[in-house]
Amino acid sequence: MGDIVNYLLNQDGSGVIESVDKRKNYISRKAPKIKGSLQRGERLEQIVAANIDNLVIVTSIRQPEFNNKMLDRLLVAAESSHINIIPIINKIDLDENDESVFWQDLYKNIGYDLYRISVKEGKGIDKLLKTISGKKSLFWGPSGVGKSSLLNKLFPHLELKVGEISDWSNKGKHTTVTSVMNRIDESTFVIDTPGMRELEPYGIRKEDLSHYFIDFQSYINHCKFNTCTHHHEPNCAIISAVENEEISEFRYESYLNMLNNIEDDMNF
Ligand code: GDP
Ligand code: ZN
Repeated sequence: MGDIVNYLLNQDGSGVIESVDKRKNYISRKAPKIKGSLQRGERLEQIVAANIDNLVIVTSIRQPEFNNKMLDRLLVAAESSHINIIPIINKIDLDENDESVFWQDLYKNIGYDLYRISVKEGKGIDKLLKTISGKKSLFWGPSGVGKSSLLNKLFPHLELKVGEISDWSNKGKHTTVTSVMNRIDESTFVIDTPGMRELEPYGIRKEDLSHYFIDFQSYINHCKFNTCTHHHEPNCAIISAVENEEISEFRYESYLNMLNNIEDDMNF
């Protein structure tokens, strides 16, 4: 999806792909586990999309409840792929306590411009439309956050199917994964990933993980050990920064959570 190919056109109109251009970037994930097909611990890399400008990460404040750890996993995936990130919290019409403002501030301090939107009330849509015009954007988000509703609001002619609210609690069900590229005009494309629930970044090593937490960058070189995993080591600059509230505890928890998952994979 999204690769640029050079092809020869046959007289009957069919084409033969001659070569695939080098990808500017690509976003991949660990392929879902398929029972019996692989040894334990072996996970293949699945390319989701190539040559994209923006990763639009759609979440919601309620129904389903905002999950900052999931957003951080997606941010890491995008940072490791060198793709511009547009994080979104949708359904702010359900946000009675302005929790989305808290998260917006937290991510703004880190350097991310998080959009608060409501598809239902049409809030924040125009700004998003401007940002993605003339670009190729991959939309990603867990089921039920309003991704299809948002794409329909932005581009009504897409007429994507909007799910029932109960869909998002139905996690056990296996859904076929496909990504669909929609051409909006000659320079605007949106790639939809219906049914893709998980995005576990592929191929990130334990010692590299902290490089994809952009708020950790100015501290990393000040740890005592250059192999520091910022977990338990003495004189760790990251741990000190968390204690001094220079790095958010939420982000540090996400980091530890991901670090732990990488270790689990390697110990299989
Ligand atoms: P998707 O699975 O992410 O594509 O989510 P859908 O677009 O299918 O929407 C899931 C449910 O959330 C539907 O019932 C939508 O009507 C609802 N929904 C979408 N956007 C909003 C919003 O801004 N506010 C509220 N309250 N509900 C929304
Ligand atoms: Zn450290």
